Amino acid sequence: MKVIRADKMGFCFGVERAYRAIEALHQQRNGADGKPTVLIGDIVHNKSVVERVKSFGIERNDYQYIPERARVIIRTHGETREVYEKLVEKGNEIIDLVCPIVTKVRIRGNQLLEEGAEYVVLIGKKAHPEVRGNSSWIERCYVVEDESDIAGLPPARTIGVVSQTTFDPSRVRELTEKLKERFERVMTADTICPHTGLNQQTSMAIAPRCDVMLVIGDPHSSNSKTLYQKVKQVNPNTYFIHSKDDLEGIPLSAGMTVGLTAGASTPDWIIDEIEKTLLSRYGTESSKEAKPSRRAPVSGQPAG
Ligand code: SF4
Repeated sequence: MKVIRADKMGFCFGVERAYRAIEALHQQRNGADGKPTVLIGDIVHNKSVVERVKSFGIERNDYQYIPERARVIIRTHGETREVYEKLVEKGNEIIDLVCPIVTKVRIRGNQLLEEGAEYVVLIGKKAHPEVRGNSSWIERCYVVEDESDIAGLPPARTIGVVSQTTFDPSRVRELTEKLKERFERVMTADTICPHTGLNQQTSMAIAPRCDVMLVIGDPHSSNSKTLYQKVKQVNPNTYFIHSKDDLEGIPLSAGMTVGLTAGASTPDWIIDEIEKTLLSRYGTESSKEAKPSRRAPVSGQPAG
């Protein structure tokens, strides 16, 4: 069997950075001073990662239930200004792991205000934690999710436009064009994160050369499911799997070429375990595109 790994797959830059910081915190000092460490929400939508973070002694909780003087981790999506202020009021120590690409949205939004925009439109999903967070940090901000929101915007001559980092770029363009029909001057800043696009492009690039494509992700991860749908359009013989156990139902054989890819919330230890299983069962040959793991799995930790 020949296994081809997509060039960009698995943890994105922001999740890798946050996970590494949590791992270092666990190894260095977590709990030594008696302070509880709490993470608001899940670090990513992946059960294996959530369980591993829990095994570090880090509890997951909603911000209302966070005790005073705790060590509080803010995940990659960020939090609202109100949550930050309440956490500080309660004497908590904040460990800010917001992805710099997410922070760039609020920075660029406020810059557009300084450059003359009367307010900023943030294109994105209203209920998404990143959008709720970033819109609260931009001084004058309205969220637009679809065309129907545009009619409700207050009158202005000049507006600024930024977007949620993971919003579909073609929808951002469409909605920006609609805004240009209504407002005289529309100042834009590109705040789309390149990771999702690269993940999809590199996965779709290998898909036509593979007999079978395996997309690895948690059933609750929307970016993994979107990746699966995109790859399946190119190669109908595509399967969505969560762990090595899911290989059981897939018709695989030694002479096949199998493509591997994974969503941004899938850790290396699951990808590596699946590749290792293929190797032991079918005798895997590496392809030119094969990439080494970005980091070795932590021994003694749960996998899959
Ligand atoms: S998808 Fe992009 S913006 Fe979101 S955490 Fe990952 S690198 Fe950051």
